[in-house]
Amino acid sequence: MPPADTAPPRRFFPTHINTYRQCPERYYHQYIRKRKGVPQFNRPLIVGGATHRLIAAVLPGYMRFGRIDLDLEAQAREEIATSDYPDEELPYREQDALDAIEMTQTALDMLPRDATSLLQERKLAMLLGRSGVEICAQVDLVVQTGDGAIEHIDFKTGKVRDNSVQSLMLRAVVGKRYRAAREIRSTTLYLAHRQRQTQTLDPDASKADWAGIARDIRAIRALDSFRPTPGPLCEYCPFQQRECSVW
Ligand code: SF4
Repeated sequence: MPPADTAPPRRFFPTHINTYRQCPERYYHQYIRKRKGVPQFNRPLIVGGATHRLIAAVLPGYMRFGRIDLDLEAQAREEIATSDYPDEELPYREQDALDAIEMTQTALDMLPRDATSLLQERKLAMLLGRSGVEICAQVDLVVQTGDGAIEHIDFKTGKVRDNSVQSLMLRAVVGKRYRAAREIRSTTLYLAHRQRQTQTLDPDASKADWAGIARDIRAIRALDSFRPTPGPLCEYCPFQQRECSVW
């Protein structure tokens, strides 16, 4: 239980809801107590982070002039080198840099051809009703396509999996910002698999999902139950070695 004077959180990003759903106790250590724990080495996460930074670095020039104004190989090696690899993982660094380059090039290949860039790497927020609670989301890219629709594009480097919480929260904040748009599209590009998922903003169809998010936010703000939910992801949890009540 948190100390009695703990203020309930009022800003929620998709990662907060996903962490709470994975394990309420992890959410508690990470976002209520604001502990860092002991980060676990995670190669896919390192490659994903490097890829996102590479994409962010090349996107402005690419969207304006259709070219890459950067030495991608040198930049990828530099990005990967910022992470601490344990000795036994050092032989994989070169391959990880190559994977980051390949996924960055895939991201550029998969962008809509007739699009104008509106926002890149931007945090957007909106108030949820009159509760004072803020829904926030980080957009990778928002474009206007040739048919006048607004499309927000999220780059993913991992497996194709349920991305509904992030997609819904992104759609909400983008829809709020571009409320006059004739259509809002949400696209997730799974770079390692060259797969694209696109949905259109439909408030009626997403009512049940929103109700689930609102329920989680109410439960978090009540601050009265952060039960542990052990599972396969404990292996990557920074609180497994200490703080966690289970291990
Ligand atoms: S180690 Fe597992 S059970 Fe413990 S806080 Fe982390 S995710 Fe939850």
